[in-house]
Amino acid sequence: MKKYNGKSVCSAVAIGKISVFKKQDTEVKRVHINDAESEKQRFESAKSASLEQLQAIYDKALKEVGEANAQIFDIHMMMLDDDDYNDSINNIIETQSVNAEYAVAVTADNFAEMFSNMDDPYMKARAADVRDISNRIIGNLTGTISGGNTSADKVIICAADLAPSETVSLDKDKVLAFVTAHGSSNSHTAILARNMNIPAVIGVGDAFLAEVRDGIEAIVDGYTGEIFVEPDDETRAKLLEKQRTDERKKALLQELKGKENVTLDGRKINIYANIGSVTDIGKVLANDAGGIGLFRSEFLYLENDDYPTEEQQFAAYKKVLESMAGRKVIIGTLDIGADKKVDYFDLKPEENPALGYRAIRICLTRPEIFKTQLRALYRASVFGNLGIMFPMITSVSELKKILTICEEVKAELKSQGPEYSEKTEIGIMIETPAAALISNRPAQMVDFLSVGTNDLTQYTLACDRQNPDIEQFVDTHHEAVLKLIEMSAENAHSHGAWIGICGELGADLELTEAFLRMGIDELSVSPNRVLPLREKIRSIKIDN
Ligand code: PEP
Ligand code: MG
Repeated sequence: MKKYNGKSVCSAVAIGKISVFKKQDTEVKRVHINDAESEKQRFESAKSASLEQLQAIYDKALKEVGEANAQIFDIHMMMLDDDDYNDSINNIIETQSVNAEYAVAVTADNFAEMFSNMDDPYMKARAADVRDISNRIIGNLTGTISGGNTSADKVIICAADLAPSETVSLDKDKVLAFVTAHGSSNSHTAILARNMNIPAVIGVGDAFLAEVRDGIEAIVDGYTGEIFVEPDDETRAKLLEKQRTDERKKALLQELKGKENVTLDGRKINIYANIGSVTDIGKVLANDAGGIGLFRSEFLYLENDDYPTEEQQFAAYKKVLESMAGRKVIIGTLDIGADKKVDYFDLKPEENPALGYRAIRICLTRPEIFKTQLRALYRASVFGNLGIMFPMITSVSELKKILTICEEVKAELKSQGPEYSEKTEIGIMIETPAAALISNRPAQMVDFLSVGTNDLTQYTLACDRQNPDIEQFVDTHHEAVLKLIEMSAENAHSHGAWIGICGELGADLELTEAFLRMGIDELSVSPNRVLPLREKIRSIKIDN
């Protein structure tokens, strides 16, 4: 038996045979050609085939992992059609009289190099995407699209790395788990695996790949990140037991559907879900969340190549509200900027984007964008139980300006129609230490506070949440962050507001008891964290 260690991406235990994922041979030869026109035609046909394949991958991803995650393949399709990319390939074929494969490979290298030299982490990440689409075109030119398991049995896929398109293309019915030698826990591939619920371990190292072969038995422990190759009897028995316990636990969680989120001594709390897109609602309902605690509305903007119109936004908000049938739906207003950028906003590069022009700062300086969103939100409010909340607040004066704009929008709707619901709640996100420290003031002006612990942690600990190199310095249970949450809870309750947590910390079961003791009224978490959280709450006794 040999044991390897990596980072767990999705927790579950898988036992089965290994299938080594064969990447296509990307070694491309330079071949002299005489007919540039027919070579360009070959490229066009390979591109069309690639577009068709990407459309199919997008459709599959849309069904399996939702619109926000499928979006990457939309970007791939746009990249394939990019004029600069296409001109470069056609020019190389024509001016150098070379084969299309070679022109695509050279263009991919040039573009990937250009992207990797950019400062913006989002643009840097596009280097992998341009390689992914180019390899697909080369695969179509040579008739060697890469593939994994061809046997009928379910297998553990092992690869050096998997591109997002390769991950989504894996036939879920044939994949027990996947293990990659490289990759980071925040990569698109890791996020897709988590959403597809496939046990996965990444970053196991090159030695692993050099030593494994098709058909040998392995066990992937997605809880610890361990891989056991050719396990001995004792390890197999232990891990089989762990797998059985895991499956029993998951089945038991299903029994919690319809049950209350109540502690042993009767304290109740709301568990809501976070979503990024209308298509995530299925998961919210399947996991029995009591409402939506954060709809990140910026995804409507990120999915579009121009400002979404009032009508487009209205349709999306209405759909979410109607689907939730009277349950609370809290929609966060636009939080664009920092790591979430779109071209049409024309945002300037910044030295410190996380401390820069983002979220409410954009809305307050570009009121036409803000008012369009607010009109759409208020118009949708009559279709359910809406809460509107504002991100990245740092001061009372900002909040006053926001409330004035809300009043203006409501006055316009009152005089010209259509109608809106007076019951619409207003809240702010506590995402900066400043907002937490002055939370007694906003608590008197709004209905609720919702703690965005992802940003609150970043700003309190001065640790850029986008930088993997400083992950070791981020203590998510830091006393300072917890004190700011507690202080916000006390301030909310002293002034009649309710308080929730919508950042990742809300799903941290080690903190659930502390949050209950602070009097937190609502926890909003990824849909698949709802039932584990309910189970945890039902096991806690706070009055002891
Ligand atoms: C947060 O900052 O905790 C949050 C919920 O917002 P986002 O992750 O979208 O910045
Ligand atoms: Mg935030």
